Amino acid sequence: MKNHPVMDFLKQRYMSMNRRRRIYEGKAKILYEGPEPGTLVQHFKDDATAFNAKKHAVLDGKGVLNNRISEFIFNHLNAIGVPTHFIRRLNMREQLIREVEIIPLEVVVRNIAAGSLATRLGLEEGSPLPRSIIEFYYKNDALNDPMVSEEHITAFGWATPQELDDIMALALRVNDFLTGLFLGANIKLVDFKIECGRLWEGEMMRIVLADEISPDSARLWDAKTNDKLDKDLFRRDLGNLVDAYTEVARRLGILAEGEPVASAGPKLVQ
Ligand code: UDP
Repeated sequence: MKNHPVMDFLKQRYMSMNRRRRIYEGKAKILYEGPEPGTLVQHFKDDATAFNAKKHAVLDGKGVLNNRISEFIFNHLNAIGVPTHFIRRLNMREQLIREVEIIPLEVVVRNIAAGSLATRLGLEEGSPLPRSIIEFYYKNDALNDPMVSEEHITAFGWATPQELDDIMALALRVNDFLTGLFLGANIKLVDFKIECGRLWEGEMMRIVLADEISPDSARLWDAKTNDKLDKDLFRRDLGNLVDAYTEVARRLGILAEGEPVASAGPKLVQ
């Protein structure tokens, strides 16, 4: 029997989608080889993990929401001249990004005491900090991402002093911009984590924002009630995470009122 041309096309597309090379799989995302050299496809999964993956769940719709929220934030950052790896969103769960050399640091910016800082220094969660504080953690699951200082970073060569200056300047710009963006949506930006990468353009290299910014990697509280709208809901079993992320997307104007998102989009077939 002769194949129908439309079936042939779909089959080929299906094959090429599945044949693409998986470069890296993390807890919440997968990176595939991109359509052109120097590009990658970043795929957002529904998996939620906490406490270095000791706690795990699959939350229907989370990947779709984080893809949209991160797209929205990175587009705004690109527009104000903050260099990022983001090119464009491809579909419900995927975005096209530039391939960068990830610097093995989690860069945390804090405005209000919460989480590990509140515990470590005995601060009351919710107390404002005297000024925004930047912290560095060495990305290493086996070591539980230990906190490190600039001395460790430069001594072990994870980043040069110049790169660290660029990373800190970038982190503060992102913090200033996001603080305002979220306040306009009645949300307090308590803290967030970013990752940076080296983008090579010929002989030139610059530090760009990579990874994602979403309620998975930021603490977002309702400006009036301090209700949590982020991954702490999952970490501490406080409520429905997908509902909260949907609320963040609505307040930012990404999702129209009543637009469904949970269960939307194709799921990853392992
Ligand atoms: N964070 C993250 N990934 C990590 C650790 C922290 O995205 O592996 C984010 C976290 O969501 C929060 C900020 O970084 O917005 C500061 O996290 P903290 O050091 O308080 O650690 P936690 O309490 O999340 O363990």
